[in-house]
Amino acid sequence: MERTLSIIKPDAVAKNVIGKIIDRFETNGLRVAAIKKLQLSRDDAAKFYEVHRERPFFNDLIDYMTSGPVVVMVLEGENAVAKNRELMGATDPKEAAPGTIRADFAESIEANAVHGSDSLENAQKEIAFFFAQREIL
Ligand code: GDP
Repeated sequence: MERTLSIIKPDAVAKNVIGKIIDRFETNGLRVAAIKKLQLSRDDAAKFYEVHRERPFFNDLIDYMTSGPVVVMVLEGENAVAKNRELMGATDPKEAAPGTIRADFAESIEANAVHGSDSLENAQKEIAFFFAQREIL
């Protein structure tokens, strides 16, 4: 059993497809162990995306991630980290495999509907960034 962090990003929340995206996880063997809707501050978003600070798109990414509410979740299941990444599809929706969340719901390489932890180690850090132990069930 693994746990991973998923974020339904502002573009997908604005499109009212939270339920459709969660359905992809539940239909494919992942369980929602924790969930909340929140508005990220610029400080939150900058800390969360710290590894991208030197990238040319960093400021745009912070603008985008704070442009509206997000839904953050802990997903739990067998191989949850890899399974979530597989269901999400490639970062750029133009390259995402048909039937993946990004192929179906993303707008662009930036407004790409979902975030998912890319390793078990990052999953643990990202989960702790958003959730207290008592909120994960
Ligand atoms: P992910 O793990 O698939 O989310 O991709 P990355 O960790 O490489 O990038 C983090 C996020 O930054 C992506 O999900 C996008 O929202 C954004 N991003 C990545 N590459 C680009 C880019 O080339 N341009 C812009 N504007 N945003 C990008």
